[in-house]
Amino acid sequence: MYIDVILPLAVPKCYTYLVPEALSAVVRQGALVRVTLGRKFYNGIVLRLHDDAEEGINYKPVLGVLSNGPIVSGEQIELWQWIAKYYMCKIGDVLKAAIPTALYNNSYRSRTFIAVRLLSGYEHKPTAKQQCLIDFLERESCQRVVSLSEALEVASAAVVNLLEKKGVIEKFTAEKSRFSYNEPIVKESSFTDAQQRAYDEIKQLFAQSKPVLLKGVTSSGKTEIYVKLIKDAIAQGRQVLYLVPEIALTTQLKARLERVLGDALFVYHSKFNEQERAEVYNEAMEGERCKVVLGVRSSIFLSFKNLGLIIIDEQHDLSYKQQEPAPRYHAGNTALMLGKLTGANVLMGSASPSVEAYYNALTGRWGLVELNSRYGDIEPPEVTVVDMVTERRKRKFVEMFSWVLRDKIKAALERGEQVILFHNRRGHSTSVCCPSCGWTPRCGSCSVTLTYHKAGEYLSCHYCGHKEPMPLFCPVCGGDIDTRGYGTERVEEVLHNMFPDVSILRLDLDSASGKNSYERILGDFADGKAQIMLGTQMVSKGLDFSNVSLVGIINADTLIDYPDFRSSEQSFQTLLQVAGRCGRKLRRGEVVMQTSHASYPIVQQVVNSDYQAFYDEQIAVRRALSYPPFSRMAFIYVKGKNLNAVSSSAQMLASVLGKKMPGCILGPGMPPVAKISDYNIRRIVVKIMPSVSISESKAFIGYAIKETLRNYGSITVYADIDPV
Ligand code: ADP
Ligand code: ZN
Ligand code: ZN
Repeated sequence: MYIDVILPLAVPKCYTYLVPEALSAVVRQGALVRVTLGRKFYNGIVLRLHDDAEEGINYKPVLGVLSNGPIVSGEQIELWQWIAKYYMCKIGDVLKAAIPTALYNNSYRSRTFIAVRLLSGYEHKPTAKQQCLIDFLERESCQRVVSLSEALEVASAAVVNLLEKKGVIEKFTAEKSRFSYNEPIVKESSFTDAQQRAYDEIKQLFAQSKPVLLKGVTSSGKTEIYVKLIKDAIAQGRQVLYLVPEIALTTQLKARLERVLGDALFVYHSKFNEQERAEVYNEAMEGERCKVVLGVRSSIFLSFKNLGLIIIDEQHDLSYKQQEPAPRYHAGNTALMLGKLTGANVLMGSASPSVEAYYNALTGRWGLVELNSRYGDIEPPEVTVVDMVTERRKRKFVEMFSWVLRDKIKAALERGEQVILFHNRRGHSTSVCCPSCGWTPRCGSCSVTLTYHKAGEYLSCHYCGHKEPMPLFCPVCGGDIDTRGYGTERVEEVLHNMFPDVSILRLDLDSASGKNSYERILGDFADGKAQIMLGTQMVSKGLDFSNVSLVGIINADTLIDYPDFRSSEQSFQTLLQVAGRCGRKLRRGEVVMQTSHASYPIVQQVVNSDYQAFYDEQIAVRRALSYPPFSRMAFIYVKGKNLNAVSSSAQMLASVLGKKMPGCILGPGMPPVAKISDYNIRRIVVKIMPSVSISESKAFIGYAIKETLRNYGSITVYADIDPV
């Protein structure tokens, strides 16, 4: 017998190994095996078992089977293959993204394992049953042999106490394991008519095996509908994957869902350490306790035992797309495939679906369900647009705050309500320069200027992470340095001066870097420990605070000005979403939006929460220019330290592509940031028109990339499919 093995390497194929007689009974698809390649040892995943060996090849033997059964389901392996093909990457890249390192290294020991080891260590003489378990665990170094409760039932009370103290297990009572599915205490909230209708429609569409787009204005009660559908799935003995775009969101939703789902809920994201990730991974696969996983992008790689429903909340969010490294997959798109493979229903929810998604729903590829009124019939927030140009001219401005915004903040605080302020630039000053000679600090490795961070007095590059001290004087002419433009740090500083007695929280990448800092900041705000929360897009996404009555958008231009065909879509979605953070429960909220583009159509669309106007405008542009959904896009990136090699190889690649796909190739050109960490970057844009086959086009792109790499050794080339 032979097996093909997926190795965690960017190699084009899977290697075949011979299975020795002794291992043939334990080797399975999806199992973790130890093999050699060249002189190195690797752990890999069994892709398939077969008997078709080629004549004359001396296959190397598998050295060992490390897992007790598969650690990746057959459905996931199919999904990996699909991802590798669709997103044009190596299946080894998918493996690296998919499996928690601790599982893959076989260094993960479940709590059961640790408990049993400790049990044996602290009892003078293990009982026969324990000894049997220990022997088995040691021999197989496997992970899921016995249940923890089984081990604990045979342990003495003293040992159980010790394990609790060491944090290996949580409070354990022999009669009722705390891991069993505890029925929640909370009573079910009854649906409004609109929610009931939406729920019924979704069920009907699920019955036809259609993915469903639930388009519901912010605060219309979408989450309540998800909860009901989750309970339905659990009642049918199936598991649920609940995807959110941002870790910050898992925090708040966890508390909300736990009240309803009890211990059946698990959370999965990258802020967990490898052992914790491995634990959740195994729980999802076992499916005993874990009925629902709430997670970010990477949780689509969990090998659920019996997946019945996938929810993709905030469907439009760009964080669902992985940018770097490969696989550059979109979790939403991948979830649709996972739904097909597992037979799970797929529900996407958003107040402002992506243009492609709404198009898919309108044209009948997906089901469409709409919820157009807010829960409790609270009116959508009243949006006041402040024209920064005229207000500045009238000097009705203090730093970055118009009088209008300042006065509204003051009024809200006086009423005892909370305020969220949105600004999507972090740091203190976004531009630093010397007014006498024009010097500006630039990153030595990237083609960008550095941002000034006042806390710590340093300059930093937001692309490569480089940091250097802020000079006291201009290093060229010795003049005084001017700091201009403002990031969240500086807004915070100004706010402190404006409202000295008010406590303010800042939520951005700099303030929320630790594992629990999100939770702490959001928790403090929810508890009313601060009156104002200021932050980057982290504050915009789906958060639900009932006491927030005012949202201020400090500078909408930073969104509106970005030069890209998706920019209007992104800005509309972000602005609408930020606006949706207020007036969620008690009464109508207020939004103040400062902009110097008050006359742009998008500003009116946000003021009126007019998704339809936004969509009509966008789809017309897309159609006229053959942008998605009227074509497929791929960006091909050429990267390298040697600028000449990068330019000429990109040129060559574009001309090879252009011959086969005339009129569909743009560039090579410079991406917005054309040098990152000393690597020069060129980009070729490929439009794949509906008249041509996508898989053939991708095959040709793959061929052209290979040819280019053959001619130039020092560069890397890769494709980004459906870029965002
Ligand atoms: P969305 O997910 O669409 O933004 P939510 O589900 O968060 O909306 O609902 C908005 C608010 O209204 C939440 O605070 C939620 O608890 C409340 N809510 C929604 N539906 C109901 C219901 N049927 N009964 C009681 N409260 C509800
Ligand atoms: Zn100078
Ligand atoms: Zn840099």
